[in-house]
Amino acid sequence: SAAAPSPAGSLAPQAEIPNDLEAFWMPFTPNRSFKKNPRMITRAKDMFYFTPEGRAVMDGTAGLWCTNAGHNREPIVAAIQAQAAELDYAPAFQFGHPKAFSVASRIAALAPGDLDHVFFANSGSEAVDTALKIAIAYNNVRGQGTRTRLIGRERGYHGVGFGGISVGGIVSNRKQFGTLLAGVDHLPHTYNRQEQAFTKGEPDWGAHLADELERIVTLHDASTVAAVIVEPMAGSTGVLPPPKGYLQRLRAICDRHGILLIFDEVISGFGRLGFGFAAERYGVVPDMICFAKGVTSGTVPMGGVVVRKPIYDAFMRGPEHVIELFHGYTYSAHPLACAASLAALDVYRDEDLFGHVLRMEPVWAEAIHALRDLPNVLDIRTVGLVAAIDLASRPDAVGARAYEAMDRCFREHDLMVRITGDTIALTPPLIISETQIGDIADKLKRLLTTLH
Ligand code: PMP
Repeated sequence: SAAAPSPAGSLAPQAEIPNDLEAFWMPFTPNRSFKKNPRMITRAKDMFYFTPEGRAVMDGTAGLWCTNAGHNREPIVAAIQAQAAELDYAPAFQFGHPKAFSVASRIAALAPGDLDHVFFANSGSEAVDTALKIAIAYNNVRGQGTRTRLIGRERGYHGVGFGGISVGGIVSNRKQFGTLLAGVDHLPHTYNRQEQAFTKGEPDWGAHLADELERIVTLHDASTVAAVIVEPMAGSTGVLPPPKGYLQRLRAICDRHGILLIFDEVISGFGRLGFGFAAERYGVVPDMICFAKGVTSGTVPMGGVVVRKPIYDAFMRGPEHVIELFHGYTYSAHPLACAASLAALDVYRDEDLFGHVLRMEPVWAEAIHALRDLPNVLDIRTVGLVAAIDLASRPDAVGARAYEAMDRCFREHDLMVRITGDTIALTPPLIISETQIGDIADKLKRLLTTLH
């Protein structure tokens, strides 16, 4: 095959695989089928994972859309090691360590407009629940305590906390968990295959769907609505870039009614779409931005929320010795995460990785869209360094074709992809080269040609 020369080189087989895989209840995984025939990973470097046998597998997904700088990058590894040896842990309640303040400043500097204060959590899910709580508490402190309703969107993914699944729009993530949060509405999603098939970048059709917000606000009255939360680009439900003008229209309606606009940039932040945040790509300034994943290039768990100055300021008006926001996590601004983040942000800047994404975007779009005439391909969407390939579902077995595609990509084509329903999603590390983009497209072509 035309596969890249294996960079495994001296990486000999190592880690021992346990005989008993039973105790680990794996997240978002069909446990029984995985444990019968596991897909194991033991090492990683740059664009590649390595299996226990030492096989190099191209990482087509940056882990879970998070290892933006590539794997096991020396400066990030060194920063984590040095931090662990110097200050392993420090509380962020009532005490501080210097890197927490530095990394907050660095993240605030990447954010648009007057988004200039950062609240730290440890994951995307915690970032989302933090933002929703801040939205309601902010309305309280500014004397608008009747504003408690939250508005999400169909096909939105905002993590797995009760707040996140309530504003989220994925049936399977909601239906097992009872009544969820009260007072939540959903905008329609923005995907329409007839109007948008095989779009590169942002589709022309769909900006008018933002006007549904006006209808929801009219139904409940603006005085009851706290916030709208959307992913600027919906990622986990199959990569849905925003229709041109859609986010501007949401912003305008929120402004008209005093409603906060929250962007969940857990995937779209830190370069995935060629900018620090997608808000910059789209020229829309939200009131809060949720982030996670790429903030540490996936190396140490970290998430958080960047908020506009007026939101922070509104909390700072009470007596100085009283806690302003009764919220936080034991591991908020964990020293290892802060050190990892500072190092990852340095790599992004020093290697101009966000600029690299913009330079690669047309190459990437061309390579992936070239697969459009292969069997079972219904649609392809690309934006930044993201792509989705919708496959026709097998009759009576929704998801089975994509599941087989994911499994065979890994075992036969040395490529890691992600799937959602019958959609293949690709989000490689931002360090990917033109040649490696070609390799991914070749692997997918060989797979799709033989997938029945
Ligand atoms: N929001 C979005 C947009 C996400 O894509 C994700 C994770 N894929 C989350 C929130 C949740 O992040 P985590 O898994 O770190 O809780």
